[in-house]
Amino acid sequence: MANLILVSNRLSVSVEKRKSKLEFKPSMGGLATGLSSLGQKDRILRIGWSGLAVDELGREDRREIETTLKREYHSIPVELTREDLESFYYGFCNNVIWPLFHYFPSYTTYDNSLWESYRRVNSIYLEKVLEAAGPEDMIWIHDYQLMLLPALIREKFPDAQIGFFLHIPFPSFEVFRLLPWRTEILTGLLGADLIGFHAYDYARHFISSVRRLLGVENNMGYVRHEQRLSRVDVFPMGIDYKKYSGALSNSGVQREMNSAARELQGLKVILSVDRLDYTKGIPERLKAYELLLENSPEYREKVVLLLIAVPSRTRVRRYRALKREIDELISTINGKLGTIGWVPIHYFYRGFSFERLSAFYGLADVLLVTPLRDGMNLVAKEFVATHRDTGGVLILSETAGSAREMGEALLINPNNREEIASALKTALEMDEKEQIERNAIMNERLSRYDIVAWTKDFLNKLIQVREVQEGYQVKKLAGDLKSELVAAYRQAERRLIILDYDGTLVPIRARPQDAAPDPELVDLLKRLAADPRNDVVVASGRRRGMMSGWFGNMDLSLIACHGAWFKPKGQKWQLIEGLNNEWKEQLLPIFELFKDRTPGSTVEEKEYALAWHFRNAEPELAALRAGEFKDILFSVTGDLNLDVLEGKKVLEVKHVNVSKANAASLWLSRENWQFILAAGDDSNDEALFAQLPDTAYSIKIGIDIFEARAYLESSTQLRQLLDEIVK
Ligand code: UDP
Repeated sequence: MANLILVSNRLSVSVEKRKSKLEFKPSMGGLATGLSSLGQKDRILRIGWSGLAVDELGREDRREIETTLKREYHSIPVELTREDLESFYYGFCNNVIWPLFHYFPSYTTYDNSLWESYRRVNSIYLEKVLEAAGPEDMIWIHDYQLMLLPALIREKFPDAQIGFFLHIPFPSFEVFRLLPWRTEILTGLLGADLIGFHAYDYARHFISSVRRLLGVENNMGYVRHEQRLSRVDVFPMGIDYKKYSGALSNSGVQREMNSAARELQGLKVILSVDRLDYTKGIPERLKAYELLLENSPEYREKVVLLLIAVPSRTRVRRYRALKREIDELISTINGKLGTIGWVPIHYFYRGFSFERLSAFYGLADVLLVTPLRDGMNLVAKEFVATHRDTGGVLILSETAGSAREMGEALLINPNNREEIASALKTALEMDEKEQIERNAIMNERLSRYDIVAWTKDFLNKLIQVREVQEGYQVKKLAGDLKSELVAAYRQAERRLIILDYDGTLVPIRARPQDAAPDPELVDLLKRLAADPRNDVVVASGRRRGMMSGWFGNMDLSLIACHGAWFKPKGQKWQLIEGLNNEWKEQLLPIFELFKDRTPGSTVEEKEYALAWHFRNAEPELAALRAGEFKDILFSVTGDLNLDVLEGKKVLEVKHVNVSKANAASLWLSRENWQFILAAGDDSNDEALFAQLPDTAYSIKIGIDIFEARAYLESSTQLRQLLDEIVK
């Protein structure tokens, strides 16, 4: 049976060395609770860094760490040196990715040596995964430190099930594009089968970056890159709901509450809890509190702000500077507004246990959470769960991921000091009944999608992706179906082969004029056409002249302009009956208008069609315009006997009689073919496939198939197939 392998930067147990003795400290984080609910302890293995630099340890210590972690914690340590930690963890992770992904581009350093270290350390994690995992195992990779790992594992284990979850925001394309190594990061992530984010916006930003930087479209959350299908989805991380919603009846928590309550002497409590990080908006929050006390002096000596700042990344200069700024702000505010018996801000620069923290949650009248950016913010959820049946108001930044699920909180813009001060006033004065009502609605949501549901949801989706991938695999032209096709070809005396050109015999190019047939293709078509049993039809949307120029000297039949013109082999070009052209004059100005409104797009005037190409336009604008254009075209073409055709990055209008299917029907009705093969890559070709007899082999190039009997992934694979049958 397969194992679940969890890979994250840190293990859930951290190792410390005190007085030359090793201490192992497990932390029961939320994820551990979620995983324990799966009930397969022995099958879950963790890989990550233990917390100690390997070059600062003796051989004995290293061995003890390895054996103890393995035996008691089902964990495998990744050995990182002090230098790795400086350049990888503090360097690339926390001075490049962290600030950029939290919209602090001015804090980001673009240093190639840090990037090299990120690549190197991701490969160190890979080695550990390869040592521990088999090709059948399920591998779940966590967070921004390991974004290259999915593709690295995929290279070694093409069939592994790999999930990736990003615990921080994924920024908008305009910010992400600043990263010199953006393509490598996207490609690294796309090695996973499932890529999860906390919020819909982050998933949207990721998909948009993939589209703009790799030119890969998404279809209902599925992205196909290098012939692999990955799913992008949203999993807002939940909390250990039972633990927090039951905290107030926990005796340890009650003890802590009683002792803290004595010290707070009946003051209304505003609580603030974060790691000390510039993304958390702590100075802005302090200034908003100061504003409240200045504008509403009636609150002086009635309220207190408990500010908990947990030390974080203290080796990084910017964090030390922030600490100084916060220290100074607090002493200024306390000095300016405090009185002999009253200190406006109680400041704790330390972390607290669950019991003490929950006691603070329980005592607080207001929780003030104002990050400038935050992937999720679990503190907000924990506070609300603690107040399942009681009042207590949450003030929450709209730029925290959790704001999407907590609409009943007082949502604020973290840069708007006045708005925060006014929300504080609203919170302090809110009727208790209303507080309870708001908390009840949020609790309902938190209890349903807790950490257990989150973990199961992610792993179930990972299994589902595999099922979808396998569904596609069934329709791939391979195995028995392929052998049957080859045998049918060999036995048949009369064969019809209809081949689309662009995207089918040759890959799509940015400039259509670059897609002329190469010598290998010319040779292949000549060999196919040389067999007197074959009638090979190349059917394209291209013009007659171009088709004649490329294929005129071969023994092929041709269909041009999507079927307006056709040329049986050895004969002259003929026009499909019943066409007219008057409509073009009427529609051309609309085409020109859309060209002008969509930079990079072009209009192509064909004899019996007009086409608007948007392959080289900015993809998101083009998608928007294409929708608009389609609506207009459908409304104006209704009574003109015209068809609107959606190709790949092209919208085309043509007379209804102009279609490949219509032109191909001339060949189909001509004789009783014993073998029919048709290949194409877009919806025009699918329309042709639909009218073929059931015995025909219709092949779509690309996995998005509707009418085709089977698919191949690329023009290269189709060429290989044709080469095989003609041999
Ligand atoms: N936390 C804690 N002790 C403290 C302060 C915070 O155990 O003194 C925990 C808190 O319960 C929460 C986590 O640290 O689960 C912080 O998570 P959050 O998503 O709010 O912020 P992050 O630190 O991940 O940016």
